[in-house]
Amino acid sequence: MSELLAVHGGEKAKTVPYGDGQRFGLEEARELLEALEQGTLFYHFGSKVKQFLSDFNEIYGVKYSVATSSGTASIHVALGAAGISVGDEVITSPITDQGTLVGILYQNAVPVFADLDPHTYNMDPASVEARITSKTKAILVVHLAGNPCDMDAIMAIAKKHNLLVIEDCAQAYLTKYKGRLCGTIGDYGCFSTNDFKHISTGDGGMVTVNSGKEEDFYRTHAFADKNYQRFGDTVHKDLQVLAPNYRMTELQGAVGIAQLKKLQWICEQRNRYGSLLTEGISGLPGVYPHRVTADGECSYWFYMLRLNLDELTCTREQFCEALAAEGVPAQAGYIARPVYMQPLFQKRQAYLNSHFPFDESEQTYEQGICPVAEEILETAVRLAVKEFYTEQDARETAAAIRKVALHYAKQEAKTQ
Ligand SMILES: *Cc1c(COP(=O)(O)O)cnc(C)c1O
Repeated sequence: MSELLAVHGGEKAKTVPYGDGQRFGLEEARELLEALEQGTLFYHFGSKVKQFLSDFNEIYGVKYSVATSSGTASIHVALGAAGISVGDEVITSPITDQGTLVGILYQNAVPVFADLDPHTYNMDPASVEARITSKTKAILVVHLAGNPCDMDAIMAIAKKHNLLVIEDCAQAYLTKYKGRLCGTIGDYGCFSTNDFKHISTGDGGMVTVNSGKEEDFYRTHAFADKNYQRFGDTVHKDLQVLAPNYRMTELQGAVGIAQLKKLQWICEQRNRYGSLLTEGISGLPGVYPHRVTADGECSYWFYMLRLNLDELTCTREQFCEALAAEGVPAQAGYIARPVYMQPLFQKRQAYLNSHFPFDESEQTYEQGICPVAEEILETAVRLAVKEFYTEQDARETAAAIRKVALHYAKQEAKTQ
């Protein structure tokens, strides 16, 4: 006999509220006050953005990075600095924030979607390689939810086909792959400090320039500052190529300095919470835990399990309702459909009144081009992860999932 579910009047598995806390405190306030006292909020005249970047560079062990106004901007900056332009193809993930795609299209390049691993939810190297054409210029990997992509395989493919690799690390702070930090493995690593990420500056972003070459750094820096090249006392304003203004302000830099000091703790907490959840729900009928990539370390921006509905007597919605009744809020899926199902791709219209660059491309975006990604989104159940969650939260959340899965498990699945 399984336990009586809370949704049917039983006791809740979650007995105490989830741990909570303040992400901003006096540390941020002091930095902000100092920023204001400088009498300038401009990154080049003040010291906060510079300090923020130098702290970030130290954590990441990189020589150069550039601050930006958002994660979306950081990806655009990487693509622009990398010279991605008209008609180039960029291979990326169909399960991501649309911010991954914006820069590709602003460069008038064409997104091409590779299918995913069914359990890590990251790009499948075999599918990446299969999508390469003579127009492919870059692979834009997304380390989804803080789980690293299979970077050895990706880098080998890039080398073989002479492609750039850009890492979207917006969800992946201190994510490790074989002991190396994601964001330092490809040519550029792109981060976001929007208000929902591991650390927040309200909005903001960073791009690492991993070649370590000064000229690459200068080009990247200029691409985030409408081509102004501000180094030391010299400013070059010659307009060589088109570049947007994606500057970070001193206010964001100030908050970022204080936030970076908390980053390691935040990622450790999230890593431990996710690992405990996986431990607590492994081997259940009908439930696939969020699988961490081999030799990887995940900093769980969220936790996403999948249901095997063949082994369960309920629908995904019933599973989520039962979890919610246990005191464990759960969301069915992540984004509703793969990003290629968005109207922009279906209508092949990035710009109002134009079909460029799609009208010059053979890429198509019909349903079914990434069947694994589609299946993931149809069967996923997403749970929030916060650095303030406790071990008890992990144990009780796992207990709730176990209770619901065992209740709805088909007889034959239970005894397997
Ligand atoms: C949040 C996010 C972005 C965009 O970041 P913004 O700062 O919101 O522009 C890009 N890619 C992924 C995977 C994200 O999660």
